[in-house]
Amino acid sequence: MIGHGERYLGRKPRGVTIAVIAAIACVWLSAFSPAPARAQAGCNPPPKPEPLQTPLNLTLVKRQLIYYRCTRYDADLARVLHEARAFVERRAGRVARPALVLDIDETSLSNWEKILHNDFGFIAEGDCDLNSKRACGQGDWDRSARAVAIVPTVDLFNAAKAHHVAVFFITGRRDVWGERDATEFNLHKVGYEGWNGLYLRPQESNEHSVTPYKTWARSDIEAHGYTIIANVGDQWSDLANGHAERRFKLPNPFYFLP
Ligand SMILES: [Mg+2]
Repeated sequence: MIGHGERYLGRKPRGVTIAVIAAIACVWLSAFSPAPARAQAGCNPPPKPEPLQTPLNLTLVKRQLIYYRCTRYDADLARVLHEARAFVERRAGRVARPALVLDIDETSLSNWEKILHNDFGFIAEGDCDLNSKRACGQGDWDRSARAVAIVPTVDLFNAAKAHHVAVFFITGRRDVWGERDATEFNLHKVGYEGWNGLYLRPQESNEHSVTPYKTWARSDIEAHGYTIIANVGDQWSDLANGHAERRFKLPNPFYFLP
């Protein structure tokens, strides 16, 4: 006769078995589940926006901008980019040599980490060390190639390539030392692979507005035999003066480029 206690030598108590199964399930789920989305800088938790005053108070406006960035910005971007993607997919097969034009900053790449670090200021010169409390210089930031992807734009890019649409980047970044290599590296690093051309603003361009240069770049693409079916940018200066069948304006309340 087997005593009551001896039965447990060959059989685990039921509670232990359930605990082991639960532990294995947790490990398995954590191994195959997507990592939780990394909180955006400044969004953990989002600042509580306060009512704006008249005249506007700059600090309160900045808080409103951070709140918008943390809550609605991604959805607003995605809505426009999904619309652009649907149009490109629909139009691609009906046009000879179709092309898509993408701006880079706040269209293809996000510089939010630098924007927040600089408290929305534009710092033209100087080093960029986001671990310090010093301001981050624009050129050094660009050359660090640390901007991250705007994911729905990567999706649009890949959809365009899948439909044999040529993709050209036209950026207001200046064609100065290190900018082209760093920009190309940053684009490749975040998933833009196989594009057809990259226009940077000529070094000698001193115009107050980027519009003439961007308009010229699109006309140059057309001169090479392409039809630009969609032009996507976050500034109206990216989109002015035609040379595209449709234009798609992304939200950017964080800075303005004429
Ligand atoms: Mg831009």
